[in-house]
Amino acid sequence: MSTVLLAGGAGYIGSHTAVELLAAGYDVVIADNYSNSCPEAVKRVEEISGKSVRTYECDIKDSAELDRIFSENSIDAVIHFAGLKAVGESVAKPVLYYRNNIDTTLSLLESMERAGVKRIIFSSSATVYGEENPVPYTEEMPRGTCTNPYGWTKVMMEQILEDAARADKELAVVLLRYFNPIGAHPSGRIGEDPQGIPNNLMPYVSQVAVGRREKLTIFGNDYDTPDGTARRDYIHVVDLAKGHVKAIGYVLEHSGVEVFNLGTGTPYSVTEIVDTFEKVNGVPVPHVYGERRPGDLPESYANADKALAVLGWQTEKDLSDMCRDAWNWQKNNPNGYNK
Ligand code: NAD
Ligand code: UDP
Repeated sequence: MSTVLLAGGAGYIGSHTAVELLAAGYDVVIADNYSNSCPEAVKRVEEISGKSVRTYECDIKDSAELDRIFSENSIDAVIHFAGLKAVGESVAKPVLYYRNNIDTTLSLLESMERAGVKRIIFSSSATVYGEENPVPYTEEMPRGTCTNPYGWTKVMMEQILEDAARADKELAVVLLRYFNPIGAHPSGRIGEDPQGIPNNLMPYVSQVAVGRREKLTIFGNDYDTPDGTARRDYIHVVDLAKGHVKAIGYVLEHSGVEVFNLGTGTPYSVTEIVDTFEKVNGVPVPHVYGERRPGDLPESYANADKALAVLGWQTEKDLSDMCRDAWNWQKNNPNGYNK
């Protein structure tokens, strides 16, 4: 069976993907500097899967470390999750974001070249559709104008990977554009563990519900949407992880560049998220309405047809599953991996 290197594999999406890859019979190697994660997440991946995972604590920018990983393991494909992802922080620290996100990609591509590894999947984002494109987004739309450096790093990394594949006909690149991953593994053992005040909606909702934060502020209720709050394409992280298993099968068999949206195709508003979370879990989520958050779009959702047609992948879990599993993780781990 093939071996997959997960760069940034101890993080939220990487850890869930590791579980699904192991369940599908792949061998997994994780490399992470734990800048936004911890070794405990990998321990729990091993616990869930009953399999061991070779793990390296290393910076993906570090070429010598990467060369060592490729020489010590027979890697067939790489999934590149390693990146900084906080939109607001990227506005305050753009150079840190460009340095980390672009350099990890360049170092990986260089080490892969030296090791003769020709297959890479990249964690991109719906943010690359920018401000101009109409919803629902389809893969052939041009990349748009981003509102923050985080988004631009994704645009730039897509471009870098496309150029690399154009120059090396043996290189296979899959760009996965994630929509809004939420929820957690149904075991409640792995989940999203943001450091400090969460930027994203679902961890904030869960932390309010568990009493770590007083109330949620809903950013804007004057959008041109059915209830006035912004709409997003929320996707269960386990569905997203299974999309990576399909994408690995694809990238092992093809060359060139392929782009896939990973979303459900159905948008929900902030209010619908809060209402569903309260109803499914029977817990209150105190909330108030506030100003719009700068840079937020009214709506973002996928046309998910291509992933179904080409990869045979579609989501299986609904919004109730997402809310239930997010809460199951939060209430069993009120302080995340810090117990
Ligand atoms: P995460 O922060 O939980 O995981 C990223 C992992 O990469 C972390 O474990 C972190 O420690 C590691 N990392 C960062 N820089 C590194 C470096 N230089 N060397 C080694 N490890 C490094 O984030 P996530 O939510 O799992 O996201 C994974 C990828 O998916 C990221 O590239 C992110 O931008 C992208 N993405 C996430 C979302 C989302 O909403 N979560 C949406 C779209 C795209
Ligand atoms: N949101 C909110 N309050 C929060 C965090 C987020 O109302 O404390 C809203 C946000 O304005 C957006 C939606 O929830 O409309 C999803 O935000 P998130 O940051 O999770 O994802 P993204 O902005 O990347 O779509």
